[in-house]
Amino acid sequence: MSKQQQPRRKHVPQRTCIACRQSGGKRGLTRLVRTADGSVEVDPTGKQPGRGAYLHPTQACWKRALDGRMIGRALRTQVSKESQAALIAYMAGLPEGEEEEDAQTSMDEA
Ligand SMILES: [Zn+2]
Repeated sequence: MSKQQQPRRKHVPQRTCIACRQSGGKRGLTRLVRTADGSVEVDPTGKQPGRGAYLHPTQACWKRALDGRMIGRALRTQVSKESQAALIAYMAGLPEGEEEEDAQTSMDEA
């Protein structure tokens, strides 16, 4: 007859990448937000009001999310062509995949 004390759980919002379904960890996730006018934008501050979805800041996850229309589904909206184009442009500036080394990559300028 032991009373089990339930540890009080702090409410920690779980942020999961919508593409690979893994949580952010220390690398963090990039927030996407559905704005009031229904467009989908990157929210670098993570503070914009509106429904949000999270993605790892890697091309691998973004591509998966864009190809699989996961962003629209997560945000319950249609991603307009304009938003899609903006997201693709943003993706182009991201690193391709998971790189564990912190070595500074030198920019190759064409
Ligand atoms: Zn991911």
